[in-house]
Amino acid sequence: MKKILITLSALVFSAAALAATPWQSIRQPIAGPAQSIGAFANGCIIGARPLPLEAPDYQVMRQDQRRFYGHPDLILFIQRLSTQIHQLGLGQVLIGDMGMAAGGRFSSGHASHQSGLDVDIWLQLPKTRWSEQMLLKPQPLDLVSANGKQVVARHWRPEIDSLVKVAAKDNEVTRIFVSPAIKQQLCADAGSDRDWLRKVRPWFGHRAHMHVRLRCPPESRECIDQPPPPPGDGCGAELQSWFLPPPPKSGAPVKRTPPPLPPSCQALLDKHLL
Ligand SMILES: [Zn+2]
Repeated sequence: MKKILITLSALVFSAAALAATPWQSIRQPIAGPAQSIGAFANGCIIGARPLPLEAPDYQVMRQDQRRFYGHPDLILFIQRLSTQIHQLGLGQVLIGDMGMAAGGRFSSGHASHQSGLDVDIWLQLPKTRWSEQMLLKPQPLDLVSANGKQVVARHWRPEIDSLVKVAAKDNEVTRIFVSPAIKQQLCADAGSDRDWLRKVRPWFGHRAHMHVRLRCPPESRECIDQPPPPPGDGCGAELQSWFLPPPPKSGAPVKRTPPPLPPSCQALLDKHLL
């Protein structure tokens, strides 16, 4: 009987483990000089650091998820951005998901955030600090209308333009993903200073937060960067194409198998899970 129970609990355990990814079981950063490895959506990180959870100019949401790790460059970027936003008197920066202690795939949510160079930052800047309870169960402010075609005027604030612009002007930022309706509003508000809009890319979701991505750190030799975005501010035909009805689907859906892990990440996982 005891044996059956053990077998049963082992089964339950393995079912739970299937839902999670093995990366989730790595609770502490892998020791060593910081190295972002692989691609943003198929990678890992050695020598990640936790974002300091106590800071005067930003607050970290959902700390119980332990997704507050990143490459030291990402930590420095968040601190730099928050200081600038504070100096402009715009409010508190709200930090969402970064990466896990060794990076890798989350068991829920986004496919990227794997190599310690991505962070989600909410598109609201509260003037007063949120309570612990609010940070644990934060309520996103949906800035986009139900049809996805424009921002909700009563929720839009000029501070949001400034937040995205300050982030996009950072030399280490290569891309910022927002909903097409948010990009459209940024395009409309930008005036003559528009170069930074090139880095702001329309993407699905991202109605309440922006996703900021840094370039591969120079010493991370196995880090795979993306090609730069197309030239121009991206406010023309490319953006408009997001508002057109999707083309009719043809043929059977293509089943995509995930690519194999970069060898260094697989080795790290094998060693950890021994
Ligand atoms: Zn994200």
